[in-house]
Amino acid sequence: MAVLPTETVYGLAGVGTNLSVVRKIFELKGRPAHNPLIMHVLGIREAQHISHITPFASKLADSFWPGPLTFVLPKREIVPYEVTAGLDTVALRSPAHPLFRSMLMEVNKPLAAPSANRTNQISPTTAIEVLDEFGEDCPPILDGGICDIGLESTVLDLSSKKARILRLGPISAKEIEIVLKQKVETPSDTIKPDGNANKSPGNATKHYAPQTPVLLHKNLQSLIQSKEVSKRDVVIVPFENEIPSVEQKTKQVLSFSSTISNLEIAKNLYSKLRQADKMNPPFIHLSLIDGEEGITDAINDRLIRASSQNPLTSQ
Ligand code: AMP
Ligand code: MG
Repeated sequence: MAVLPTETVYGLAGVGTNLSVVRKIFELKGRPAHNPLIMHVLGIREAQHISHITPFASKLADSFWPGPLTFVLPKREIVPYEVTAGLDTVALRSPAHPLFRSMLMEVNKPLAAPSANRTNQISPTTAIEVLDEFGEDCPPILDGGICDIGLESTVLDLSSKKARILRLGPISAKEIEIVLKQKVETPSDTIKPDGNANKSPGNATKHYAPQTPVLLHKNLQSLIQSKEVSKRDVVIVPFENEIPSVEQKTKQVLSFSSTISNLEIAKNLYSKLRQADKMNPPFIHLSLIDGEEGITDAINDRLIRASSQNPLTSQ
Protein backbone atom coordinates (compact mmCIF):
# COMPACT_ATOMS: atom_id res chain seq x y z
CA MET A 1 0.00 0.00 0.00
CA ALA A 2 1.26 3.49 -0.84
CA VAL A 3 -0.14 6.98 -1.16
CA LEU A 4 0.10 8.24 -4.73
CA PRO A 5 -0.71 11.57 -6.32
CA THR A 6 -3.35 11.73 -9.03
CA GLU A 7 -4.51 14.74 -11.02
CA THR A 8 -7.69 14.82 -8.86
CA VAL A 9 -6.68 14.13 -5.22
CA TYR A 10 -4.14 11.88 -3.44
CA GLY A 11 -5.09 8.18 -3.46
CA LEU A 12 -4.45 5.38 -0.99
CA ALA A 13 -3.37 2.78 -3.53
CA GLY A 14 -2.96 -0.97 -3.41
CA VAL A 15 -3.32 -3.94 -5.76
CA GLY A 16 -7.07 -4.15 -6.22
CA THR A 17 -7.17 -7.88 -6.90
CA ASN A 18 -5.36 -8.72 -3.65
CA LEU A 19 -7.93 -9.25 -0.92
CA SER A 20 -5.67 -8.62 2.05
CA VAL A 21 -4.48 -5.33 0.53
CA VAL A 22 -8.07 -4.29 -0.19
CA ARG A 23 -9.02 -5.03 3.43
CA LYS A 24 -6.09 -2.92 4.65
CA ILE A 25 -7.29 0.02 2.58
CA PHE A 26 -10.77 -0.18 4.12
CA GLU A 27 -9.26 -0.55 7.57
CA LEU A 28 -6.87 2.40 7.37
CA LYS A 29 -9.57 4.68 6.02
CA GLY A 30 -12.18 3.39 8.43
CA ARG A 31 -14.32 3.10 5.32
CA PRO A 32 -17.61 1.24 5.67
CA ALA A 33 -17.72 -2.00 3.67
CA HIS A 34 -20.74 -0.74 1.70
CA ASN A 35 -18.71 2.01 -0.01
CA PRO A 36 -16.90 0.60 -3.07
CA LEU A 37 -13.42 1.55 -4.30
CA ILE A 38 -12.37 2.90 -7.70
CA MET A 39 -9.91 0.77 -9.66
CA HIS A 40 -7.16 2.57 -11.59
CA VAL A 41 -5.79 1.22 -14.87
CA LEU A 42 -3.42 2.43 -17.59
CA GLY A 43 -6.02 2.39 -20.35
CA ILE A 44 -8.84 0.60 -22.07
CA ARG A 45 -6.85 -2.61 -22.67
CA GLU A 46 -6.20 -3.02 -18.95
CA ALA A 47 -9.79 -1.99 -18.20
CA GLN A 48 -10.94 -4.97 -20.26
CA HIS A 49 -9.29 -7.36 -17.79
CA ILE A 50 -11.50 -6.22 -14.95
CA SER A 51 -14.73 -5.06 -16.61
CA HIS A 52 -16.95 -5.57 -19.65
CA ILE A 53 -16.32 -2.57 -21.86
CA THR A 54 -19.42 -1.17 -23.55
CA PRO A 55 -19.37 0.88 -26.79
CA PHE A 56 -20.11 4.03 -24.75
CA ALA A 57 -17.16 3.30 -22.47
CA SER A 58 -14.71 2.86 -25.32
CA LYS A 59 -15.91 6.06 -27.02
CA LEU A 60 -15.57 8.04 -23.81
CA ALA A 61 -12.18 6.54 -23.00
CA ASP A 62 -10.97 7.71 -26.44
CA SER A 63 -11.96 11.26 -25.55
CA PHE A 64 -11.28 11.56 -21.83
CA TRP A 65 -8.72 8.95 -20.74
CA PRO A 66 -6.32 9.36 -19.14
CA GLY A 67 -8.31 11.81 -17.06
CA PRO A 68 -10.84 12.46 -14.30
CA LEU A 69 -13.73 10.36 -15.64
CA THR A 70 -14.67 7.14 -13.82
CA PHE A 71 -16.92 4.53 -15.45
CA VAL A 72 -19.16 2.11 -13.59
CA LEU A 73 -19.31 -1.08 -15.68
CA PRO A 74 -20.20 -4.77 -15.20
CA LYS A 75 -17.31 -6.37 -13.35
CA ARG A 76 -15.31 -9.45 -14.25
CA GLU A 77 -14.75 -12.28 -11.80
CA ILE A 78 -11.17 -11.23 -11.02
CA VAL A 79 -12.48 -8.19 -9.11
CA PRO A 80 -13.21 -9.13 -5.49
CA TYR A 81 -16.65 -8.26 -4.15
CA GLU A 82 -14.88 -6.44 -1.30
CA VAL A 83 -13.76 -3.83 -3.86
CA THR A 84 -17.26 -3.32 -5.26
CA ALA A 85 -19.11 -3.54 -1.94
CA GLY A 86 -20.95 -6.62 -3.19
CA LEU A 87 -22.09 -4.97 -6.45
CA ASP A 88 -21.79 -6.65 -9.85
CA THR A 89 -20.36 -3.42 -11.21
CA VAL A 90 -16.88 -1.97 -10.80
CA ALA A 91 -15.83 1.68 -10.92
CA LEU A 92 -12.64 2.32 -12.91
CA ARG A 93 -10.62 5.08 -14.49
CA SER A 94 -7.26 5.81 -16.06
CA PRO A 95 -5.41 8.49 -14.07
CA ALA A 96 -3.30 11.08 -15.88
CA HIS A 97 -0.66 11.77 -13.23
CA PRO A 98 2.77 10.59 -14.46
CA LEU A 99 3.81 9.24 -11.03
CA PHE A 100 0.63 7.20 -10.71
CA ARG A 101 1.06 5.93 -14.26
CA SER A 102 4.65 4.83 -13.68
CA MET A 103 3.47 2.88 -10.63
CA LEU A 104 0.77 1.21 -12.76
CA MET A 105 3.42 0.26 -15.32
CA GLU A 106 5.70 -1.08 -12.61
CA VAL A 107 3.04 -3.16 -10.85
CA ASN A 108 1.19 -4.17 -14.02
CA LYS A 109 -2.03 -4.75 -12.06
CA PRO A 110 -5.08 -2.58 -11.39
CA LEU A 111 -4.69 -0.38 -8.32
CA ALA A 112 -7.63 0.34 -6.05
CA ALA A 113 -7.20 3.90 -4.82
CA PRO A 114 -9.79 5.77 -2.80
CA SER A 115 -8.96 9.26 -1.62
CA ALA A 116 -6.19 9.19 0.99
CA ASN A 117 -8.22 10.47 3.91
CA ARG A 118 -10.02 8.88 6.81
CA THR A 119 -13.72 8.34 6.25
CA ASN A 120 -15.77 11.52 6.34
CA GLN A 121 -12.74 13.80 6.19
CA ILE A 122 -11.84 16.11 3.33
CA SER A 123 -9.84 14.64 0.44
CA PRO A 124 -6.14 15.59 0.52
CA THR A 125 -4.55 17.52 -2.33
CA THR A 126 -0.99 17.73 -0.90
CA ALA A 127 1.36 15.19 0.70
CA ILE A 128 1.40 17.13 3.99
CA GLU A 129 -2.38 16.84 4.26
CA VAL A 130 -2.11 13.07 3.80
CA LEU A 131 0.44 12.93 6.63
CA ASP A 132 -1.93 15.02 8.73
CA GLU A 133 -4.69 12.48 8.08
CA PHE A 134 -2.88 9.27 8.90
CA GLY A 135 -0.11 10.39 11.28
CA GLU A 136 1.99 7.44 12.45
CA ASP A 137 -0.14 5.00 10.46
CA CYS A 138 0.73 6.75 7.20
CA PRO A 139 1.96 4.47 4.41
CA PRO A 140 4.82 5.74 2.21
CA ILE A 141 3.77 8.78 0.18
CA LEU A 142 5.01 9.63 -3.30
CA ASP A 143 5.01 13.42 -3.14
CA GLY A 144 3.83 14.87 -6.44
CA GLY A 145 3.18 18.39 -5.15
CA ILE A 146 -0.30 19.91 -5.22
CA CYS A 147 -2.91 18.05 -7.29
CA ASP A 148 -3.73 19.90 -10.51
CA ILE A 149 -7.51 19.55 -10.40
CA GLY A 150 -8.21 19.20 -6.69
CA LEU A 151 -11.69 17.62 -6.98
CA GLU A 152 -12.59 13.93 -7.24
CA SER A 153 -13.38 12.42 -10.67
CA THR A 154 -16.78 12.47 -12.33
CA VAL A 155 -18.41 9.07 -11.75
CA LEU A 156 -20.52 7.90 -14.71
CA ASP A 157 -22.73 4.82 -14.56
CA LEU A 158 -22.54 2.98 -17.89
CA SER A 159 -23.90 -0.31 -16.59
CA SER A 160 -27.42 0.23 -17.93
CA LYS A 161 -28.82 1.63 -21.18
CA LYS A 162 -28.87 5.25 -20.06
CA ALA A 163 -25.62 6.93 -19.06
CA ARG A 164 -26.01 8.54 -15.67
CA ILE A 165 -23.68 10.74 -13.63
CA LEU A 166 -23.46 9.49 -10.06
CA ARG A 167 -20.94 12.06 -8.82
CA LEU A 168 -20.35 15.47 -10.39
CA GLY A 169 -16.73 16.21 -11.20
CA PRO A 170 -14.27 17.87 -13.56
CA ILE A 171 -15.80 16.34 -16.73
CA SER A 172 -19.25 17.84 -17.26
CA ALA A 173 -22.49 16.22 -18.47
CA LYS A 174 -22.35 18.45 -21.55
CA GLU A 175 -18.87 17.23 -22.53
CA ILE A 176 -20.04 13.62 -22.16
CA GLU A 177 -23.24 14.29 -24.13
CA ILE A 178 -21.24 15.70 -27.05
CA VAL A 179 -19.29 12.44 -27.34
CA LEU A 180 -22.24 10.09 -26.76
CA LYS A 181 -24.65 12.19 -28.84
CA GLN A 182 -27.33 11.59 -26.26
CA LYS A 183 -28.66 12.97 -23.01
CA VAL A 184 -26.91 12.06 -19.79
CA GLU A 185 -28.78 12.08 -16.49
CA THR A 186 -27.21 14.16 -13.75
CA PRO A 187 -27.64 13.92 -9.97
CA SER A 188 -29.87 17.00 -10.02
CA ASP A 189 -32.28 15.02 -12.24
CA THR A 190 -32.31 12.12 -9.82
CA ILE A 191 -30.92 13.14 -6.44
CA LYS A 192 -33.29 13.46 -3.52
CA PRO A 193 -32.53 15.66 -0.52
CA ASP A 194 -30.91 12.68 1.19
CA GLY A 195 -28.76 11.73 -1.82
CA ASN A 196 -29.03 8.81 -4.22
CA ALA A 197 -27.23 6.64 -1.75
CA ASN A 198 -28.23 3.31 -3.22
CA LYS A 199 -26.74 3.44 -6.67
CA SER A 200 -23.51 5.16 -5.67
CA PRO A 201 -23.02 4.24 -2.07
CA GLY A 202 -20.30 6.83 -1.45
CA ASN A 203 -22.51 9.64 -2.57
CA ALA A 204 -24.22 10.37 0.72
CA THR A 205 -25.27 13.98 1.18
CA LYS A 206 -22.83 14.66 3.98
CA HIS A 207 -19.38 14.02 2.64
CA TYR A 208 -16.26 16.08 2.07
CA ALA A 209 -17.12 18.05 5.22
CA PRO A 210 -14.89 19.85 7.73
CA GLN A 211 -15.35 19.25 11.50
CA THR A 212 -16.56 22.82 11.97
CA PRO A 213 -20.20 23.44 11.04
CA VAL A 214 -20.46 25.16 7.67
CA LEU A 215 -23.12 27.71 6.75
CA LEU A 216 -23.58 28.00 3.01
CA HIS A 217 -25.06 31.22 1.63
CA LYS A 218 -26.85 31.54 -1.70
CA ASN A 219 -24.23 33.96 -3.02
CA LEU A 220 -21.57 36.32 -1.72
CA GLN A 221 -24.04 39.20 -1.55
CA SER A 222 -26.35 37.34 0.80
CA LEU A 223 -23.36 36.30 2.91
CA ILE A 224 -22.34 39.95 3.21
CA GLN A 225 -25.88 40.91 4.24
CA SER A 226 -26.33 37.99 6.62
CA LYS A 227 -26.75 38.64 10.35
CA GLU A 228 -25.47 35.17 11.10
CA VAL A 229 -21.79 35.98 10.59
CA SER A 230 -20.06 36.67 13.92
CA LYS A 231 -16.60 38.14 14.54
CA ARG A 232 -15.27 34.75 15.63
CA ASP A 233 -16.41 32.99 12.46
CA VAL A 234 -14.26 32.29 9.41
CA VAL A 235 -15.50 33.33 5.97
CA ILE A 236 -14.05 31.95 2.74
CA VAL A 237 -14.83 34.14 -0.27
CA PRO A 238 -14.34 32.84 -3.83
CA PHE A 239 -11.68 35.34 -4.94
CA GLU A 240 -8.98 37.24 -3.07
CA ASN A 241 -10.16 40.65 -4.32
CA GLU A 242 -13.48 40.03 -2.53
CA ILE A 243 -11.86 39.78 0.92
CA PRO A 244 -12.41 43.47 1.84
CA SER A 245 -16.16 43.14 1.25
CA VAL A 246 -16.57 40.96 4.36
CA GLU A 247 -13.90 42.38 6.64
CA GLN A 248 -16.43 44.48 8.51
CA LYS A 249 -18.07 41.27 9.73
CA THR A 250 -14.95 39.32 10.66
CA LYS A 251 -11.22 39.73 10.21
CA GLN A 252 -10.87 36.00 9.65
CA VAL A 253 -11.38 35.93 5.91
CA LEU A 254 -9.75 33.51 3.48
CA SER A 255 -10.23 33.18 -0.26
CA PHE A 256 -10.31 30.09 -2.47
CA SER A 257 -8.38 31.70 -5.32
CA SER A 258 -5.93 34.54 -5.89
CA THR A 259 -6.94 34.77 -9.56
CA ILE A 260 -10.43 35.02 -11.08
CA SER A 261 -10.62 31.37 -12.07
CA ASN A 262 -13.05 28.65 -11.02
CA LEU A 263 -10.44 26.03 -11.91
CA GLU A 264 -8.20 27.65 -9.32
CA ILE A 265 -11.06 27.54 -6.78
CA ALA A 266 -11.39 23.78 -7.40
CA LYS A 267 -7.66 23.31 -6.96
CA ASN A 268 -7.56 25.10 -3.58
CA LEU A 269 -11.02 24.17 -2.29
CA TYR A 270 -10.10 21.35 0.09
CA SER A 271 -6.88 22.95 1.38
CA LYS A 272 -8.76 26.12 2.27
CA LEU A 273 -11.51 24.16 4.01
CA ARG A 274 -8.82 22.38 6.03
CA GLN A 275 -7.14 25.69 6.86
CA ALA A 276 -10.44 27.21 8.03
CA ASP A 277 -11.19 24.09 10.08
CA LYS A 278 -7.83 24.36 11.85
CA MET A 279 -8.66 27.92 12.93
CA ASN A 280 -11.40 26.27 14.97
CA PRO A 281 -14.12 28.94 14.65
CA PRO A 282 -17.74 28.43 15.75
CA PHE A 283 -18.80 28.48 12.07
CA ILE A 284 -17.31 28.58 8.58
CA HIS A 285 -19.31 30.65 6.08
CA LEU A 286 -19.20 29.90 2.37
CA SER A 287 -21.25 30.97 -0.62
CA LEU A 288 -22.22 29.15 -3.81
CA ILE A 289 -20.09 30.26 -6.74
CA ASP A 290 -21.13 31.63 -10.13
CA GLY A 291 -19.89 30.46 -13.48
CA GLU A 292 -20.41 28.19 -16.43
CA GLU A 293 -21.57 24.66 -15.71
CA GLY A 294 -19.00 21.90 -15.42
CA ILE A 295 -16.38 22.66 -12.82
CA THR A 296 -18.71 25.23 -11.21
CA ASP A 297 -21.41 22.59 -10.65
CA ALA A 298 -18.84 20.19 -9.21
CA ILE A 299 -17.53 22.87 -6.82
CA ASN A 300 -21.05 23.80 -5.70
CA ASP A 301 -21.87 20.12 -5.23
CA ARG A 302 -18.92 19.80 -2.81
CA LEU A 303 -19.85 23.06 -1.03
CA ILE A 304 -23.39 21.75 -0.51
CA ARG A 305 -22.02 18.48 0.87
CA ALA A 306 -19.58 20.33 3.12
CA SER A 307 -22.46 22.30 4.57
CA SER A 308 -25.12 19.66 4.78
CA GLN A 309 -26.77 19.38 8.16
CA ASN A 310 -28.04 15.99 7.09
CA PRO A 311 -26.57 13.40 9.49
CA LEU A 312 -26.20 10.85 6.67
CA THR A 313 -22.59 9.71 6.60
CA SER A 314 -20.59 7.55 4.33
CA GLN A 315 -17.14 7.65 2.84
P1 AMP B 1 -13.39 7.78 -3.65
O1 AMP B 1 -12.69 6.49 -3.85
O2 AMP B 1 -13.26 8.29 -2.26
O3 AMP B 1 -13.07 8.78 -4.72
O4 AMP B 1 -14.93 7.44 -3.86
C1 AMP B 1 -15.32 6.55 -4.87
C2 AMP B 1 -16.68 6.89 -5.39
O5 AMP B 1 -17.06 6.00 -6.46
C3 AMP B 1 -17.74 6.77 -4.34
O6 AMP B 1 -18.67 7.80 -4.50
C4 AMP B 1 -18.33 5.39 -4.65
O7 AMP B 1 -19.62 5.22 -4.15
C5 AMP B 1 -18.30 5.39 -6.17
N1 AMP B 1 -18.33 4.01 -6.67
C6 AMP B 1 -17.32 3.14 -6.63
N2 AMP B 1 -17.70 1.94 -7.16
C7 AMP B 1 -18.97 2.08 -7.55
C8 AMP B 1 -19.92 1.19 -8.16
N3 AMP B 1 -19.62 -0.07 -8.49
N4 AMP B 1 -21.15 1.68 -8.41
C9 AMP B 1 -21.45 2.94 -8.10
N5 AMP B 1 -20.61 3.83 -7.52
C10 AMP B 1 -19.38 3.40 -7.23
MG1 MG C 1 -13.16 9.97 -0.96
